[in-house]
Amino acid sequence: MVEMNRRRLLAGGAIAGTAGLAAGCDCGPATDLSAGAAGGLAERELKMVTTWPKDFPGLGTMAERTAQFITEMSGGAMRVKVFAAGELVSAFESFDAVATGAADIYHGAEYYWVGKSKAYPFFTAVPFGMTATEIMAWTAFGGGQELWDELAAGFNIKPFIAGNTGHQMGGWFKRPFDSVEDLRGRKIRMPGIGGEVLRRIGASAVALSGGEIYQALQSGAIDGTEWVGPWNDLAFGFYREAKYYYWPGFHEPGAQLGVGVNLDLWNGLTLQEKSIIDGACQRANHLSIAEYGHFNGIALEQLVNDHDVQLRQMPEDVMAALARETKIVLEEIGASDDISRRIFESYKEAIRRSGEWSRISDEAYMATRRRVFDL
Ligand code: CA
Repeated sequence: MVEMNRRRLLAGGAIAGTAGLAAGCDCGPATDLSAGAAGGLAERELKMVTTWPKDFPGLGTMAERTAQFITEMSGGAMRVKVFAAGELVSAFESFDAVATGAADIYHGAEYYWVGKSKAYPFFTAVPFGMTATEIMAWTAFGGGQELWDELAAGFNIKPFIAGNTGHQMGGWFKRPFDSVEDLRGRKIRMPGIGGEVLRRIGASAVALSGGEIYQALQSGAIDGTEWVGPWNDLAFGFYREAKYYYWPGFHEPGAQLGVGVNLDLWNGLTLQEKSIIDGACQRANHLSIAEYGHFNGIALEQLVNDHDVQLRQMPEDVMAALARETKIVLEEIGASDDISRRIFESYKEAIRRSGEWSRISDEAYMATRRRVFDL
């Protein structure tokens, strides 16, 4: 599969260096480009559904931006109208809406489609899994995109990376904890595989949508919650209800946002139109990583300095127990069917490679640079 991408890169000639091709987009032969450029772009109205509330910082705004980029980059020929969660369909109906052609594009997080395939979380984030740069590397060059294409094609969808929150925090807690024993029975909002892992160490994990969390924390219906990171969490005001903010998050080490395009629509687009959608998604991805990096730092200072938030490191025995259970859960997912097995194998191979490199580069370097920058 990697070889196929390399051949496409070579076949791309003058545009071989563009990020779109490097990301393994299914762009077809380079000759289509001149045909598209000569013929101009057809006027299209495209409906984008999303899994986010309207103007939700970082998430809803990223969907809006992706749509805006497509419209702009096509000189207004491809006009994308965005529907926030609930406007055309509910958040979790976005997938089926695009699969059936009721909508053209969705912007969301792939792990919301876990009911369609247990392998979907690998394309957002799994506990103790890849960071933002690692998942981009796997997707673009390590065979991830080809497997993702194959998985999504089974549902009539063409998928793209279109954002990343970066590393997420471990969450907000009303009372601190120092051991696995302390967490037993506590009601914690954490969706997905992270929630399943928490349940297996004895906590009571609940899945609440974004809009339900604050009220549940305020009323005491839950003892703690994860959401995203300092920037998005500050906006929600969780610090008013819970003062203990745990790091690092084990469950979403670089949560990737995704775009899905109806596959029939995608197959009928010209190379230029495909390149515009691919390019817009990558522009959105780049911007979101930069945005989270910038605003998380600012928000963290505010939480600690202005709101008396207590930062606490996840206890070692808790992390060890979470890691032990994560291994078991991921193996179960990998054994669930053929494509899940192949995705899991590819993911493991890629994280082993990038992890060994990260160990002697980022990991070692981060620990030492504080000598200069007073970190
Ligand atoms: Ca989260």
